[in-house]
Amino acid sequence: MPSKNFVLGIFGGGQLGKLLAVTAKRLKIKTYIFTNSIDSPAIYYADDFIIGSYQDKKKLNIFIKKVSIITFEFENIPFSILKNLEKNIPIFPKPEILKTLQNRISEKVFLNNIGVKTTEFKKLKRNKLKFLDKNLFPILAKTINLGYDGRGQIFFKNKSKIIKYKFPNDQYILEKIVNFTKEISVVIVAYKNKTFAYEPIENLHSKQILRQSISPAKISRKINEKAKTIAIRIAKKLNYRGVMCVEYFLKKNEDLLVNEIAPRVHNSGHLTLDSYNVSQFESHIRSVCNLQSIRPKKIKNAIMKNALGKNIYKFRERKSKKKEFFYDYGKMHVKEKRKLGHLTKIY
Ligand code: AMP
Repeated sequence: MPSKNFVLGIFGGGQLGKLLAVTAKRLKIKTYIFTNSIDSPAIYYADDFIIGSYQDKKKLNIFIKKVSIITFEFENIPFSILKNLEKNIPIFPKPEILKTLQNRISEKVFLNNIGVKTTEFKKLKRNKLKFLDKNLFPILAKTINLGYDGRGQIFFKNKSKIIKYKFPNDQYILEKIVNFTKEISVVIVAYKNKTFAYEPIENLHSKQILRQSISPAKISRKINEKAKTIAIRIAKKLNYRGVMCVEYFLKKNEDLLVNEIAPRVHNSGHLTLDSYNVSQFESHIRSVCNLQSIRPKKIKNAIMKNALGKNIYKFRERKSKKKEFFYDYGKMHVKEKRKLGHLTKIY
């Protein structure tokens, strides 16, 4: 058990930070949130918080003086900032891992180097578009850094379309569109000496945003095992600490391609709050705070639906039913496609 004065510092104040803070409180661990936005639901659940830019040295200094270790709920914190902070304070997962994974190209190069399959890709070179292999089409162009929930993604059916497009710079990855049958994800938790996988989760996206997650995924035993084995292998190769989520495309021929890795708790893992002996949030805290490990065990099947944008009003008006768990993140502003809550049904 960490000492009485132990404080878990968390970068980011969104729903993931909130659910981490709520869970930490139950585990009697104090939390301190650093966020760049006043509209941060996590600050109401933490023991303390500070609002400022992630580049604000003065505020970062105040923050690190008050916390024992640092973790984060999103992966777009500048690497240089974390690297600097790491000189004075432990950060989990390690900033070096974040550096590899926050760049869509280095992430894929790392995966391919350890023998894990990904989508076919190329870095954008605006002056070489006419030389692109036509077999790479249709293509999804994504920003190399800072993309999430489909932001910064552009679809191109063929070469003539992409040649006409005015990219502002070369900071894009061109990914071949995968004709997948399912999207699945595997949440893992890596402790100092042990790594466990949650059961694969099936994910339904629309317009590149996760709408629904189902546990367990309806996949063959072989794919179930393979997805867990690959995720654990990636975590071991990264020397990972904490919770991580690996997102896959499953093809008709049973090929499993990694789409991306989230070095943090993940939206698809929300259903673990109500259907497992230990949620992804508790696992993350246990692992980064070096508490005793718990092997995740599925207790119920579950379906989780995201409440996006104005849809939140419908969720709020709904009469609550048995075996349903509604989480309202309590964000101030309702914006289109913004993740504002979720509902999990267990069965
Ligand atoms: P991402 O931001 O890379 O996680 O993409 C969000 C969603 O867009 C994915 O979950 C897929 O539904 C879709 N998507 C992204 N990349 C591809 C791809 N190469 N082929 C097909 N669908 C994709």
